[in-house]
Amino acid sequence: MSDALALTGAQAAAAVRAGELAPAELFEAYRARAAADELGAFTWVADETPPAPAPDAPLGGVPLAVKDLFCTAGIPSQAGSRILEGYRPPYTATVVERLAGAGAPLLAKTNQDEFAMGSSNENSAFGPVLNPWDRTRVPGGSSGGSAAAVAAGLAPWAIGTDTGGSIRQPAALCGIVGLKPTYGAVSRYGMIAFASSLDQAGPLTRDVTDAALLFRHMTGRDACDSTSLGSPEEIALPVREDLRGVRLGVPSELTGEGIEPGVLAAFEATLELARSLGAEVEPCALPHAPHALAAYYLIAPAEASSNLARFDGVRYGLRVDGDADLLGMYTRTRAAGFGAEVKRRIMLGTYALSSGYYDAYYGRAQKVRTKLVEDFRDAFARFDFVVTPTSPTVAFKLGEKTADPLAMYLSDYCTVPMSLAGIPAVSIPNGLSGGLPTGFQIAGPAFSESRILDAAHALERALAFDGSPARA
Ligand code: GLN
Repeated sequence: MSDALALTGAQAAAAVRAGELAPAELFEAYRARAAADELGAFTWVADETPPAPAPDAPLGGVPLAVKDLFCTAGIPSQAGSRILEGYRPPYTATVVERLAGAGAPLLAKTNQDEFAMGSSNENSAFGPVLNPWDRTRVPGGSSGGSAAAVAAGLAPWAIGTDTGGSIRQPAALCGIVGLKPTYGAVSRYGMIAFASSLDQAGPLTRDVTDAALLFRHMTGRDACDSTSLGSPEEIALPVREDLRGVRLGVPSELTGEGIEPGVLAAFEATLELARSLGAEVEPCALPHAPHALAAYYLIAPAEASSNLARFDGVRYGLRVDGDADLLGMYTRTRAAGFGAEVKRRIMLGTYALSSGYYDAYYGRAQKVRTKLVEDFRDAFARFDFVVTPTSPTVAFKLGEKTADPLAMYLSDYCTVPMSLAGIPAVSIPNGLSGGLPTGFQIAGPAFSESRILDAAHALERALAFDGSPARA
């Protein structure tokens, strides 16, 4: 069985379909691993083995770890927050249902930053997650539990959500693959909302093929989410082995100042490799990218302040009554239930939306967003993809940035522009810097996921990254 645990999700699914691997045994082996987790990656682990999948199920019964903010019927879905402690939703998120229907049953719920706000997983009410490469360091966030679980081999594959980088950045810091799809490719129904115009679900996997396979079964229009479109055609499994004729744009704004020297060196080495595979690599410009972070930290908190208004002690989870009247109950519940970062975002967002300040902050941030969309449109007129490092740093020490929210926010410097533009981007492992993983980000136009993953596959193959130290 330990051999089976070394397989990627696609390989395990193929072994099940070929009759070489019993799905119940695979599930049980992963269940035992997940239950013995020492990284803090999980908030719930299945206690029963699910029924065998249909013999031709494309995902073969290979178990799936799911970020806690996806609603799962009858199973705690707490989004990393005290205010939702013990909340068991009456329904399951569309994407979790789709994946289960394709043969990937729920193995575990994964720890995360509270309401997906954070870059280190230290904002979880249920404790931090440790990076399997170095347990004194963070796994990234907010999908830190999903990333750590996959990197450590505690789950074959996982899903998370990305609002400004929360799939890509933890994937980079843990040495795995993370895909943020085009906004609208995947239904948000049943995802506990952070910032609705940005949130997207996506896979965190051991390799690019697994990302394509999971994404193929996640994408689709859903009548329960009017912003979902699905993908224009079936997602292809990647096969590409070279990059001949592929034009890569390297934006100077995201590949210079602020990027750690070791991360930059790994990025530049991969650009060389891309050239050797036949790619044309040229500088490109995203003139508004330096303003993306400021715009994001107005738009995302503004939407969060509205989304989080529903947690009032009446409808879900925690209620702190005391002898207060109704308003008192609301405020006591929210004071006790939300953590410091969530409160900071609610205050920022409420301020940005208040009359008198709306035009100066929220309105201007929306204008920056439009400019970014135009920047990418111009870049994709000349280039197939825009490439950058995923995170400006490798995994940092637990506690290193908790006292300085602005330093923490800089973790998203290279990922937020794509989020604001609504375009897809993948992070693939890009070798080590100082013994810790770095990520290489490939972004493309809306709905170019198959092409992005194909290019990522060629690079992945040439990079031959060995993720095994983390799984030892
Ligand atoms: N780290 C970013 C934030 O704190 C992004 C989070 C995310 O993508 N969910 O907002």
